[in-house]
Amino acid sequence: MKAYDIVVIGGGPAGLAAAVSARKSGVKDILVLERDKELGGILNQCIHNGFGLHTFKEELTGPEYAYRFMEQLYEEKIPYKLNTMVMDISKDKIVTAMNREDGVFQIKAKAIILAMGCRERPKGALNIPGYRPAGIYSAGTAQRLVNIEGYMPGKEIVILGSGDIGLIMARRMTLEGAKVKVVAELMPYSGGLKRNIVQCLDDFNIPLKLSHTVVDIEGKERVEAVTIAKVDKTGKPIKGTEERYTCDTLLLSCGLIPENELSRNAGVEMNLVTNGPKVNESLETNIEGIFACGNVLHVHDLVDYVSEEAKKAGESAAKYVKDEQVESDESKTIEIVATDGVRYTVPSTLNVDRMEDMLTVRFRVGAVYKGKYVSVYLDGERIMHNKKKIMAPGEMEQVILIKNKLKEQDNLKTITVKIEEN
Ligand SMILES: Cc1cc2nc3c(=O)[nH]c(=O)nc-3n(C[C@H](O)[C@H](O)[C@H](O)COP(=O)(O)OP(=O)(O)OC[C@H]3O[C@@H](n4cnc5c(N)ncnc54)[C@H](O)[C@@H]3O)c2cc1C
Repeated sequence: MKAYDIVVIGGGPAGLAAAVSARKSGVKDILVLERDKELGGILNQCIHNGFGLHTFKEELTGPEYAYRFMEQLYEEKIPYKLNTMVMDISKDKIVTAMNREDGVFQIKAKAIILAMGCRERPKGALNIPGYRPAGIYSAGTAQRLVNIEGYMPGKEIVILGSGDIGLIMARRMTLEGAKVKVVAELMPYSGGLKRNIVQCLDDFNIPLKLSHTVVDIEGKERVEAVTIAKVDKTGKPIKGTEERYTCDTLLLSCGLIPENELSRNAGVEMNLVTNGPKVNESLETNIEGIFACGNVLHVHDLVDYVSEEAKKAGESAAKYVKDEQVESDESKTIEIVATDGVRYTVPSTLNVDRMEDMLTVRFRVGAVYKGKYVSVYLDGERIMHNKKKIMAPGEMEQVILIKNKLKEQDNLKTITVKIEEN
């Protein structure tokens, strides 16, 4: 069996940045495994601009952004295998994968970085009544058809869900000559970034109907019409509010789910809110030497944060391989509690001795909050209280914890992140 110091699973932006940073941190023996026929991950189909504003201070397209990291991988001469599907990872870090050249093969890794990204929530999970004719696509599939394969999924479109992919596809389909009639969103707020609502819907006069869902799909061979209705607070359609749209295509943009079958099978402990692994300050899971970053850890809105997080995962994996990690001591583990409007935090635990001088804790809120405060408590003491103009579930938030401040607190057990009125 071949052995590598670090095996990175997934060659998207997270996997690329993690591999490059592990190499820059002094690890020679790294292998990236990617199931697709090219590196770059989901960014290859995101041909719109808006990527890299934080990292490169430039507006790049998805493929351009991914290529910046691919170039670094090539410069560092980090080996990678394409068309290679990882099928299993074990607790003792044996990776089982397959491709056409090698067949099924196994690799013993000292450390593994999980960077498998996420997938779209399928329509089967959505309980929409009506027929299931041709013309129903997930927004990401439609994006791939239009931007990579060169096919138009339809001419008259209704979109269910206002996540970023749905918003971006509303604009894309319009630019390609289709008529997007409406975007219906079950929640009373959009799941996407504010900038995407403005640039992808408002600029093209596409109506966004909040608190609405699809109640009927018509058509036997092909979609012929879709009916949407307003929902009450419990998400139930309200009788008499139905609106029927004739159309040939329904796009579904109803959330993303981290690709965590491999992680689960390996015994990695999951965060039930993110559906990604629970990680500590080093982005290490409960299994020593297995790290996670990018959309497989939690769904990100901006790829810049994915790259930043992946860099950290690469550095942590390098420390582990080089035996430079501070010994783990369970009794020194501090829990980061997400409560009062904060749905989760990444990481969810930390050890002050192991953390860098500053630690970025990312989180999402569960509703829209205007003029409220993000507060951080060390046990009972409030150490941060920042007023935010607006916070929404579609936009990731962060707080930065300072090591010296945490060290001042004797016997610290929990750090709480919450939303407060004043
Ligand atoms: C439609 C859309 C629009 C977006 N728009 C923007 C934007 O405007 N600006 C912005 O900053 N961000 C945007 N993002 C977000 C950004 O693209 C993602 O956050 C980022 O691509 C996530 O990187 P990742 O490496 O974690 O995942 P991915 O890019 O999904 O990469 C994961 C890789 O792992 C591989 N993989 C999975 N399982 C296996 C396996 N078992 N074996 C081998 N390989 C495997 C996959 O093939 C894939 O290549 C957008 C995302 C989407 C989907």
